[in-house]
Amino acid sequence: MNENIRLGRIAGVPVGMNWSILLVFWLIAWELSDLVLPGWRAHEPTALYWGVGIATTVLFFASLLAHEVSHAVVARRNGIGVRRITLWLFGGVSELESEALTPGADFRIAVVGPLTSFVLAGVFGAVAVGARGATGSVGVAVAAAGWLAWINLLLGGFNLVPAAPLDGGRVLRAALWRRSGDRVHAATAAARTGQVFGYVLVVLGVLEFLAVGLAGLWFIFLGWFLLAAARAEESTAVLRDSLSGVHVSDIMTRDPVTFDADTTLADLLDDHLHRYPFSTYPLVDRTGRLLGLTTLSRIRHVPAHHRRTTRLIDVSGPLAEVPVGTPDEPVPDLFQRMQASADGRAFVVDATGRLVGIVSPSDIARYVQWSMLQARRGASPWGSRRG
Ligand SMILES: [Zn+2]
Repeated sequence: MNENIRLGRIAGVPVGMNWSILLVFWLIAWELSDLVLPGWRAHEPTALYWGVGIATTVLFFASLLAHEVSHAVVARRNGIGVRRITLWLFGGVSELESEALTPGADFRIAVVGPLTSFVLAGVFGAVAVGARGATGSVGVAVAAAGWLAWINLLLGGFNLVPAAPLDGGRVLRAALWRRSGDRVHAATAAARTGQVFGYVLVVLGVLEFLAVGLAGLWFIFLGWFLLAAARAEESTAVLRDSLSGVHVSDIMTRDPVTFDADTTLADLLDDHLHRYPFSTYPLVDRTGRLLGLTTLSRIRHVPAHHRRTTRLIDVSGPLAEVPVGTPDEPVPDLFQRMQASADGRAFVVDATGRLVGIVSPSDIARYVQWSMLQARRGASPWGSRRG
């Protein structure tokens, strides 16, 4: 998910949003102001409906954010870093830097989100009931609080459906993991129920589209998204399984060629590229200190007439955002950090901090292809695979 607008930090976690959320904001504000609120309390000024409608929509997004922040806070408490929270078309996403180490941690991180939504539903419900009792009627504000209670209840309930990547799917994964002790099988089963649920939503969406109209499209898109996400989770689980027991030193490209960070793109293309046809370029200063990395795809995006004046360092990502591993680290751990990084590549350094290798997605793909080939021949590709 692309983060287009940075909103700031909450509990130390960067929070951003994707443009797609503006569409949802407008749709919800419109539905509230034009349909829901007038349906509960007719004959009020239009400005009142829209004022309360927009404020209610803001509170709805604040509720979504509270749900995600609760995941992030519990993840942190369980020793897992949180890269960022992004709000987008279908709600919020918390990107964790690694996976839970125990079924208990997996369960706690997942279940706190829906619990937060239920608590918010209770709070808004109490406000609605209290305000109604005090005023003796259902005013626009009472209806708005009631709607917020309802929508948070719905949000918590929907997220508890036991289908990955929903929170309920994570709860299911944690339960299966605890019972069998096998994380991969648990994750695969949760991802499969996610795919079934995705199909169910698509079918319901088509039926609703035929019976009611455009609203069905929402379920079709949501089902489609869940289906794709669940498939991706299943293949990640399988990939991680085939990489378990493999160490970074088994797959890394050793002693990578480094490049002077001040080299211009034109010089690289003229002098180096035919000698070093790489896709990853580690950048160093004159003393050999690592400054960052750039990639062929970053270089390719620079227009030809800027290549004489653009240096490699100008098209590199910040060093702090490049994952760094050690040779004896398990590959799945580094792989997870690579997936969460902008360029999907990692540096490998030894105990003295010297660059001894790089890992790119093609290194991992090559290893997996090798291991599949070797498995067919009945041999283990690298001696240390389960070591
Ligand atoms: Zn959640």
